[in-house]
Amino acid sequence: MRALIRCIPLAALSVACSPGAPEAPDPAALDPIAREYVVLALSMGHHDPAYVDAYYGPDSLKAVADADSLPVAAIRAAADSLIAILGDTVPAYTDTLVQMRHRYLRTQLGSMVARARMLAGETLSFDEEAKALYDAEPPHLSDAHFDSLLAVLDTLVPGAGPLAARYQAFRGRVEIPPALVDTVFKTAIAACRARTLAHIALPASERFDLEYVTGTSWNAYNWYQGNDHSLIQVNLDFPIAVDRAIDLACHEGYPGHHVYNASLEEALVKGRGWVEVSVYPLFSPQSLIAEGSANYGIEMAFPGAARTAFERDSLFPLAGLDPALAEQNAAVRDVMTALNYARNEVARRYLDGVVDSAGAVAAMERYWLQAPDAAAKTLRFIQQYRSYVINYNLGRDMVAAWVERQGGEDPDARWRAFATLLASPRLPGDLGGP
Ligand SMILES: [Zn+2]
Repeated sequence: MRALIRCIPLAALSVACSPGAPEAPDPAALDPIAREYVVLALSMGHHDPAYVDAYYGPDSLKAVADADSLPVAAIRAAADSLIAILGDTVPAYTDTLVQMRHRYLRTQLGSMVARARMLAGETLSFDEEAKALYDAEPPHLSDAHFDSLLAVLDTLVPGAGPLAARYQAFRGRVEIPPALVDTVFKTAIAACRARTLAHIALPASERFDLEYVTGTSWNAYNWYQGNDHSLIQVNLDFPIAVDRAIDLACHEGYPGHHVYNASLEEALVKGRGWVEVSVYPLFSPQSLIAEGSANYGIEMAFPGAARTAFERDSLFPLAGLDPALAEQNAAVRDVMTALNYARNEVARRYLDGVVDSAGAVAAMERYWLQAPDAAAKTLRFIQQYRSYVINYNLGRDMVAAWVERQGGEDPDARWRAFATLLASPRLPGDLGGP
């Protein structure tokens, strides 16, 4: 096996290398660590097919990973060695983005070690896993909290019968007819793109392909291809409500995953030659930023009442739906967004062994008002992605708090902050609490 980290000059990362005036640490000393990080992340992908969500870096590093064919224990040991070199404190680089880069490598490697421990058979609790993989501490919310949200929902979908049945019946009234899904999606994507491009400059080469699929545990996915190109897939297993069009267009596309990945590639991979950004390990703190910014991107593109107005005036008519339902649908959506945290609680109880599969499905039916087949699909998602669920809601709230602290009430300042986030290696620890 290759000597994995022998060539990394340890002294270059120390603050004071010689007597007298302290020398500034050498930012270039991070480059070999970054290359080894990429090799190790790609090596993790040999054992965990979902680990490498995207890679568009040099073929030579992939060839090294393939040739090394490291077992999980060796990946973990090598990652631990890199962590030891990086140390527990960030040297006083003059460039704050380099400080962030140092922390990024240190934190991402820490999560890689945790994932390697899990692959080797270690069991972490939901909260331990969330902290170790995503560098975040999801709140514990009580059933009483969710019951109070259900009570609000009860007033929004009045009528006789159980709340879940009334909610599902209402959602049935705002479903896009299958033959119009593509048209409505493309209209939503065009609107999200225009609203994003008014604030964020994207390279002329940026583009995406849209595909429709079935049989996946997720509803939609952005597979970033590199060179400012995304493949966006949308699952058609279940009927699609009209507001999912804006959700998906903003989240997967503009200013969500597509813009995040293209911004990172332009600013850091092409702009600075930071190869570590060309690999995206799914089970890592970067996912909290990715999912959080994608979900908060909906609010960025359509702040306040703008979303409901656009849906009422454009998407509802396009889908042949009654625009008079748009306001009620928006009120229902707000409550369901808050209830999204219920999925965290169900995942925690299921993964910690407090409830079994049937209990988890029943809880999703109760707190997310899902029909049994949809609740079963949610359980499959939890089984596959585990504590990843926190990235959607906690991530969104952490990104929102950070952007709103930076930008205040000024929409342009918020966009500048959001664009800065998308083009930097910021991790949850760089955001502060929600
Ligand atoms: Zn996503």
